[in-house]
Amino acid sequence: MVGGVEIGNGAKVAVQSMTNTHTQDVDATVKQISELEELGCNIIRVAAPNSEAAACLGEIKKRINIPLVADIHFVHQLALDAIEQGVDKIRINPGNMQDKEMLKKIIVSAKNKGVAIRIGVNSGSIRDRNIDNNGEEEDLVELMVKSTLDYCEYFESLGFKDLVLSVKTSDVPSTIRAYRMIAGECEYPLHLGVTAAGPPALATVKSAIGIGSLLADGIGDTLRVSFTGLPHDEVRAGYEILETLGLSERKTAEIISCPTCGRCEIDLADIVDKVKKRLPQKGKNLQVAIMGCPVNGPGEAKESDIGMAGGKGFGLLFKKGKKVKKVDEKDMVDALIDEIENMS
Ligand code: SF4
Repeated sequence: MVGGVEIGNGAKVAVQSMTNTHTQDVDATVKQISELEELGCNIIRVAAPNSEAAACLGEIKKRINIPLVADIHFVHQLALDAIEQGVDKIRINPGNMQDKEMLKKIIVSAKNKGVAIRIGVNSGSIRDRNIDNNGEEEDLVELMVKSTLDYCEYFESLGFKDLVLSVKTSDVPSTIRAYRMIAGECEYPLHLGVTAAGPPALATVKSAIGIGSLLADGIGDTLRVSFTGLPHDEVRAGYEILETLGLSERKTAEIISCPTCGRCEIDLADIVDKVKKRLPQKGKNLQVAIMGCPVNGPGEAKESDIGMAGGKGFGLLFKKGKKVKKVDEKDMVDALIDEIENMS
């Protein structure tokens, strides 16, 4: 359990994100977490890079409704502070915490407080790679998995098993290989992600392939899509991956839209973008078709629960296959959203 959220053991895959506010700006951090929670974020991680940030964790925790994870690197005391502040989980990379005695203190303290720990080993934290007999460097993925399992053994030797593991890299094939390997070696829940995946469009592709392949294999218990951008988009993308694979209990309206061609007479990309941003996030298991032209559009639009087929400066609105009305292009977004909201 991470706070009230069960991880692993057949529980639904939890969607995580990480705030990009300064953690010590409590109001801004709480505001962003509330927005992410509204989008369906199940678990939130915040950075605790210094004692000022760590000291604010208790206050943040009090003001939010989803489990709080503190992300700690290098400074052992910050992990102890975070646990003391009542966070639900800490994420550490033991490779960044060389002082074994202090690491032991963290583990004992987390155990006493019922705080879970994610051992997050990233490819960037593996520094020492030996040269094998063939003159080649040791395999990075194997090293990551081995070092994670070694850490698990150490935690277990202290009676600590409340672990989540991650073995992210920024390279998709390596990430997939690392997770497949570790999933074959242990039973701990796995947090999936492709690290430093880049700007949203690229990160979506990388994450959909990396996280999606693993989920399709039945591997993974929580996920974070990493974007250079807003965490809100990370949560949306996380759900899109789960929904695409039929792994989300949450149902949102699905948009089908055509690629447009020379027949299109409306600004379809803008309309789709606006509708997507205003889609209700919960409770609407609907298919919404937004098609560009008066030739093929109506047929496609009719197949969906709600459809709009573009004409020259107007759109024809369809509901369950029946034409409902003709609307001006400027009113198409409002008309679609009204219909979506009124449909169950
Ligand atoms: S629906 Fe119409 S505008 Fe869209 S791609 Fe097909 S033919 Fe082109």
